[in-house]
Amino acid sequence: MDFRLPEEHETLRTEIRALLDRHVDDDVVEESHRTGTNHSAPLARALGEAGILARAMPGAGKDPLAMWLLSSEAEKAGAPFDSVGMSLVIAGVLDAVGTEHQKATALAGLLSGEELVCFGLTEPQGGSDLPAITTRATRVADGWVVSGAKMWTTMAHVADWVFLLARTESDAGRHGGFTVFIIPMDTPGITVDPIWTVSTERSNATFYDDVRVGDEAVVGEVDGGWAVMSLMLGFERGMASTGHLTPLLRRFRQWAVEAGVSADPLLRERMAQIAIDAQVSELLTQRTVWTAATGRPPGTEGSMAKVFATEAYQRHARWAQATAGPEGLLGLGEAGAAADGWIDYDVRHSIPMTLQGGTSEINRNNIAERHLGLPRAR
Ligand SMILES: Cc1cc2nc3c(=O)[nH]c(=O)nc-3n(C[C@H](O)[C@H](O)[C@H](O)COP(=O)(O)OP(=O)(O)OC[C@H]3O[C@@H](n4cnc5c(N)ncnc54)[C@H](O)[C@@H]3O)c2cc1C
Repeated sequence: MDFRLPEEHETLRTEIRALLDRHVDDDVVEESHRTGTNHSAPLARALGEAGILARAMPGAGKDPLAMWLLSSEAEKAGAPFDSVGMSLVIAGVLDAVGTEHQKATALAGLLSGEELVCFGLTEPQGGSDLPAITTRATRVADGWVVSGAKMWTTMAHVADWVFLLARTESDAGRHGGFTVFIIPMDTPGITVDPIWTVSTERSNATFYDDVRVGDEAVVGEVDGGWAVMSLMLGFERGMASTGHLTPLLRRFRQWAVEAGVSADPLLRERMAQIAIDAQVSELLTQRTVWTAATGRPPGTEGSMAKVFATEAYQRHARWAQATAGPEGLLGLGEAGAAADGWIDYDVRHSIPMTLQGGTSEINRNNIAERHLGLPRAR
């Protein structure tokens, strides 16, 4: 098998690296951790202006290699990129099933890098069982009234749009009777409360109190929200958040050199293992991308990439912290912290990585049932 990229993608990679070099420095990274907002407006705008966001948008007949290259280079560089990653997923959905109005407004805004979107899916009573959501959209004469609450609406405090899943019909079976809406965040009735996470990231609880929207907010078919969600989850899973071992290895190596222990054979062996796992994560992600490129839904491959990469990240980060000793427990900005606090950050960051976008258990169920043909676990 030939793992080399086609020449046009090598050129794209060089362009992406140059943009990241220009727009990501210590101040940008520090700001994203201080504010908890994994976003850099100048970087997003530059990617939009260069046409890279439009090129990296996922979907049938699109260029999955471009999306992977962008996510992977951004993750390796430690760039504040979550916001843009979310924009790309929803851009792909709107491109596939959005109306002309949605393409001219939300989609255009997202691809320019000027606007952001948040995902309003998970609710306070649980996120794995999405069909159990209770947020309702009720039909009224001039559109819809949305009422309910969402949890973990990351980026809601800076987003222009929310991609919201609501129940529109109660008696339509487990996967029927849902509708997806794309709603401007400044619509009256939406409120946003911060949730500070273990990883320094800010997420949010969002509340929808009799939020009135017109039919132009409906994405896809009324009561056909599950098909829209399947499309979205297929774009989200396993193509991003799999590249964090590379910065972890860089930071651990920095600590080992500074602490004068980089020649220790046991440390070197473990560092080699981290490098190998980083490579395996990359190959599994490439397989997900390749599956998408062939026009098949990459759900199972995405689950495999996500479980392997995020669990390896967590395992190695915890080892790095234990190895660095007490200084490994000191965080970003704390005097004397190992690797300037990045080892502690990696441990914290690796925790939500195995939860968001589908927990490891849910992804394992997916692999067991769809790939191995095992009986349903529930
Ligand atoms: C930092 C962060 C950011 C997030 N950002 C967003 C966002 O922007 N938008 C959004 O909508 N959501 C977001 N989420 C929510 C995320 O998608 C959910 O956390 C995830 O789906 C799991 O839901 P839950 O946390 O409610 O856990 P639950 O679904 O309540 O699960 C609890 C535990 O039970 C296990 N479990 C549940 N069902 C099964 C099953 N059938 N078989 C085996 N085990 C099971 C789970 O694996 C987990 O360990 C975010 C979460 C985090 C932590």
